[in-house]
Formats: sequence, structure tokens, C-alpha cells
Amino acid sequence: MGNSYQLCCSVCDRFYDPARLRNLCECGGPLLVAYDFAKIRREWGKSALQSTPSTMWRYDPVLPADRASAISLGEGWTPLLPAPVLGAAIGARDLWLKEEGQNPTGSFKARGMSAAVTMAKKLGATRLAAPSAGNAGGALAAYAAAAGVEVHVAMPADVPQANYLECEAAGAHVTLVNGLIGDCGRIVAERSQAEGWFEVGALKEPYRIEGKKTIGYELAEQFDWELPDAIVCPCGGGVSLIGIRKAFSELEELGWIGSKRPKMIAVQATGCAPIVRAFETGALRSEAWQHAHTLASGLRVPKALGDFLVLKSIRESRGTALAIGDAEMLDGGMELARREGIFAAPEGGACVAAIGKLIASGFLKPDDRIVILNTGSGLKYLEAYGTRFIRNTAGEADKLGGLITPR
Ligand SMILES: *Cc1c(COP(=O)(O)O)cnc(C)c1O
Ligand SMILES: [Zn+2]
Repeated sequence: MGNSYQLCCSVCDRFYDPARLRNLCECGGPLLVAYDFAKIRREWGKSALQSTPSTMWRYDPVLPADRASAISLGEGWTPLLPAPVLGAAIGARDLWLKEEGQNPTGSFKARGMSAAVTMAKKLGATRLAAPSAGNAGGALAAYAAAAGVEVHVAMPADVPQANYLECEAAGAHVTLVNGLIGDCGRIVAERSQAEGWFEVGALKEPYRIEGKKTIGYELAEQFDWELPDAIVCPCGGGVSLIGIRKAFSELEELGWIGSKRPKMIAVQATGCAPIVRAFETGALRSEAWQHAHTLASGLRVPKALGDFLVLKSIRESRGTALAIGDAEMLDGGMELARREGIFAAPEGGACVAAIGKLIASGFLKPDDRIVILNTGSGLKYLEAYGTRFIRNTAGEADKLGGLITPR
């Protein structure tokens, strides 16, 4: 089946031909993929999913490329796990975990980069570049390696060690920047102009969000086409939040689900909460957050290109936005590990803390079906969790009983 779609600007509704590599609309707005659902509906049905791969490419009729041509490392189709023990502890009786830490490179960024690198290569790009707060760089480096294309990543110098090392290991050209992702973005934009690199920053090209939206398709399929009441979603650039909503409206156009929508709950860090602030003040766009700091590197995004789309998604779904402190995130992450055996990124830990607060406030009800989107593995955040434990390996430890030295 051929994929029939156009690119449509999310700001001015102008259309573009997808046969050419493109970044933003002429007006500066992000481009989104608009499919011909009349055609797809005729050619594709739920029963086709029985013989599809266990990756996000099982949904290739609504992806920009077919699975045979995809650059894939097995991303997506991650487990949807019940979390009854954690649920009982925090007062949520129907709690679930979408476990994105099991993706290649340990985070859901793999989904977006699989789609973006597939399309960039297909449309002729040979040198890719992106700014990254952490996991996007690692995922891009991995997919670029698999595709055999050159890649340049700019990251904050204090990015988690895992993210820096995975980029270097995959052969990416890494620039460490004394600043935040916005500063990295400016450097990448300038150098891309000069060097002819193709930029694959969040929402700077149309396809990363297509990969990310498959989380929404999977949730629908895994819940047997009955969407939950709320999805608690860590929010940095907001690509997953927008993408999941896009998936739901596409699924309704396909006739696979009805009009019920989960509340989208955006979780940010108290040290960087531009979407929360805009949500609370009723603004249509966010303002750049000054002196952004949080150990949840994926949430350290002071100003997102798609902020207006995130805010629209939250409001239309009757959701909300809230900020969690770094200490509470680590507590939440460790509670998840202790009670369910899943060692989550601090971004996932933040969702645990958020649910506790929203149940206490009455925004979420104890019987609501709630999904935590755990966006990454705790194993990528050893410095952050390491602040909670002291490992004695010096001789001193013998006395403390922390180290056994064989005689
Ligand atoms: C990038 C990232 C986020 C934020 O994702 P968006 O979809 O851009 O909001 C959250 N958690 C982790 C682990 C990330 O890597
Ligand atoms: Zn436009």
C-alpha cells in the first residue's frame, strides 16, 4: 500500500508536497503529516494487525514510510503493564504503566528518530544534525549509525553521562555547549545553514512526531480500543503529548475508536515549567523559562517550538499541567522500582508524584483508569539516582558492613 499524505502547516494550514525534504513552513510553523483517511480506511483494518511486526511499524499505513523501507532497531510495541501495588499505595485503583524504557537506546526518543532518520535518508539527506537535552541525541546517533549517515549533535555540557557516551559510541560528532537546549538549537541552526546539514530537532521536521504518535495507537490497541481516562505524560518539547492526541483523532477518522478522549496531564519540573505557567495563566503560548534547572534532563526545555499545540491538546482534552520538584521525582522513581520492579527515568518518577497530588486534589478519581507514560529507563540517569545512595568501596566500608573482602 502506498502512503498518501501531504504536509500541512500547524499554524497557517498551507500544504506542501512531501516528496521534498522540508523543515518548517515558510511562516515558521511546524509541519504535520495529513493522511488521506478516505483511502486508508478502505485499504486497512484492525484485522491486518494480527500479522504485523512487534514494532511501531505495525502501523505503517499511517506512517510516512512502509515498514520494508524503515530504519528500525525494534522500537515501539512496548509493554503496557498493570501497576496494582503502586496503585494501591497512591490511591489509584486502575493504574497502568506504558514502559518506554524498553525502547532501543532506553527512551521513547527512539520512535521519533526511527521515523525521522528513515525519511531524511529516503529524501536524500546525508548529514543530519540536532540539538538535544539528552535522549534525543543518543537515539539520533543510533539511527544515523544504522542508516549509515553522518550526524552532528549539540548537547548541554552537563547532559547525563549516558547520553554523551552513547552519542560518541555511535560515531556522532558531539558538540558540548555551555548552555541549555535552546543555545544548542541556535548553534545547530547556524552550522546547518553553513554546512548543509538537515536539522531533525523536535518539530523542526514533520516526521519525529509521526514516530511518537504510535504510543497513542499502541495504547488504543493494547486497551482493546477503549481509551483510558487519563494519560500522565512528562512534557519537555511536548512532542509525545501532541503526537498521542494526533493518533487519537486519526483513530477516530479510521473509525477504530469513538469520541472519548483521555485527559492529557502534562508533567514538568518546578525548575522548568513554562507549559504549566502558560496553562495556569490561560496563555496560548509559553514564555521562555529563565535559569531552567532540573535533573530530569528531558524536561529541561525552557521554550518549546510546539508550545501552542501542547497547550491546545491539554485544554481540549480537559487535562491539566503541573510541576514536580526534583527530589519528589527521584522518590517517585524509586517508589515505582520498589513496588513494580520498573526502574524509571526521573521523568517517569515525576508522573508518580503527579498522580498522588491529582488524586489528593480530586482532579483524578481513585477509580479512573490512569496511564503513566514512563518515557525512559532509570539506567540512563545514574548520576541523578546516585545522589540517593552511598556505595562504600573504600576500606572504611568494612567497618560499616558495606563491603566484604574475601580473605
Ligand atoms: C525527551 C524526553 C521527554 C520529553 O518529551 P517530549 O515528548 O518532547 O515532551 C521526557 N522524558 C524523557 C526521558 C525524554 O527523553
Ligand atoms: Zn505556516
